[in-house]
Amino acid sequence: MTTKIVFLPGDGVGPEVIGAAEAVLAKVSEQEGFSYAAEHHAFGGAAIDSHGDPFPTETRAACLAADAVILGAVGGPKWAGGSVRPEQGLLAMRSELGTFANLRPATIMPGLEALSPLRPERVTGCDLLIVRELTGGLYFGDREEGSEAALDTCRYSRDEVERIARIAFDAARGRRGKLTSVDKANVLATSRLWRSVVDDMATDYPDVTLDHMLVDAAAMRLVSAPTDFDVILTENLFGDILSDQASAVAGSIGLAPSASLGSGKGGIFEPIHGSAPDIAGQGKANPVGTILSLAMALRHSLDQEAAAVRIETAVSKALADGHGTFDLGCSDSTKEMTAAICERL
Ligand code: ATP
Ligand code: MG
Repeated sequence: MTTKIVFLPGDGVGPEVIGAAEAVLAKVSEQEGFSYAAEHHAFGGAAIDSHGDPFPTETRAACLAADAVILGAVGGPKWAGGSVRPEQGLLAMRSELGTFANLRPATIMPGLEALSPLRPERVTGCDLLIVRELTGGLYFGDREEGSEAALDTCRYSRDEVERIARIAFDAARGRRGKLTSVDKANVLATSRLWRSVVDDMATDYPDVTLDHMLVDAAAMRLVSAPTDFDVILTENLFGDILSDQASAVAGSIGLAPSASLGSGKGGIFEPIHGSAPDIAGQGKANPVGTILSLAMALRHSLDQEAAAVRIETAVSKALADGHGTFDLGCSDSTKEMTAAICERL
């Protein structure tokens, strides 16, 4: 059966960075000798404009049937005040595809150090993985909107914590054997449940060193000593915040990829950055986060490990040769950076 890849360009810089990933996929598939069928569907603000729905029925059907979904970004000022928002499409997609595990590596790519001037906030040797719970917590709790008062609720069940913790423990086992579970157990009931479930599971992983850290302390530590971390396990909201922070420590938000996985083989792969309306349409966006997300799709959902490694190596080489977009202090356009990576595949 043909591998089916669904591209959802979305909004802002989304179409620009998705174009870059498609160029890389076209070349790498030829080199590695595999074929695929690509589809493009409306999603996010663009889909509100065309279908009145950020996650139209036909997009939903295509995503459910796909081996991998590669997403650009959604959102922007145009839809921010509306009654239907692009981000609702994103939450609905994660929920319907059951992608409860969001993996966000923050690793200084070999080659990035060579870029000059090296920004001081980049930390040499930073190599961590954030495992963020993606379908529970505050993002999916009951809500009441109001102009005088509003309510968001946070809920987690033992099962939800267990399945994400298992992914984090397994990931730590395959890396440096260190797991930091991040919560706010001194204040939140959900965090105290989280902590006790993770502690219960630790007995299955005697080879993994587990510690717990409050999210405020973790935020500080991520800046002051990011190399202390190996795998960070955390809930939905804390993971959203900490992974943006970690991406800056590892170079730039434009470089960071993510994979959202469920119990099946498929997944959603997207850069961690948003639609970047401030630079959209200018050909300036860094395509690397999306290109590395494609590499994660090839590895996790498409059984093409060699192609994934080929892409990661080409990105490192391009950076080492001085290629980079403006966010890295360089001057390549999105297309030039993409071409530099394609040449090195
Ligand atoms: P979201 O809520 O969707 O996560 P956000 O509010 O976190 O979005 P982003 O869209 O990620 O915001 O943008 C944050 C900053 O990072 C902006 O200044 C943007 O220009 C910059 N940025 C985001 N993506 C890229 C990229 N691919 N290349 C260069 N700069 C980027
Ligand atoms: Mg963000």
